[in-house]
Amino acid sequence: MGEDISGEELAAASGIHEWARRLRELRVEHGYEITEVGDGIYRMERAEPDEERARRWQLANKIRRSAGSATERIEAFLEASKGEVVTRDHIDYVANIREGIRRVRELRDEHGWPINSYIDEPALRPGEYRLVSSDPSDRRDPRQRLYPEGLRERVFARDNYTCTKCGRNRERALAAGDTHFYLEIHHKHAVAEELDALPPDELNREENLVTLCHRDHAALTAAFQERRRGDRRGR
Ligand SMILES: [Zn+2]
Repeated sequence: MGEDISGEELAAASGIHEWARRLRELRVEHGYEITEVGDGIYRMERAEPDEERARRWQLANKIRRSAGSATERIEAFLEASKGEVVTRDHIDYVANIREGIRRVRELRDEHGWPINSYIDEPALRPGEYRLVSSDPSDRRDPRQRLYPEGLRERVFARDNYTCTKCGRNRERALAAGDTHFYLEIHHKHAVAEELDALPPDELNREENLVTLCHRDHAALTAAFQERRRGDRRGR
């Protein structure tokens, strides 16, 4: 337990070349926490199986065998696991392709799905993801993708993963019954439409950026746009 084992060693130990399938059985049917830590290297994280973990793998197995494209299967798995932590291993397994995680990033960056990673949420480890909401009104602002991940991480960490307007973090929001809470970056000196045109050093200057919850960011953006429309009418 806790040691890294290669596929070859597993094949030798099990005396078969079907170790990958056996490994999957241990995960899917029995709920052992076994992660792939490198190319063909596995680690058993805990000696005891876990029912919740087994349930998630059974769900992953069911969706993996369903019809549809890799992306559709990932979507179905994320939706069915809404609010829960899913791992990179789950995603690759469900998608049945390598680099399933790229599809997750597309869903987030191109389609605005609010999918948290360790950058958005200190409770998550690298390789863990959480779909916060599948409500269309909770889609991320598409310009969030303009901010590089390292910068997002620094700004969120600096602001303690807390909305600078309402003072809530994820724990406080959950305690108040708001399961749709997630964080976005707000630029203090540019409205959403201007962000694309900003030179990178202006866009990415940390002191211009603050952490807001999605709800407050959307409200602020709408208020800016309303004011701008008012200005135009006033001219
Ligand atoms: Zn807020």
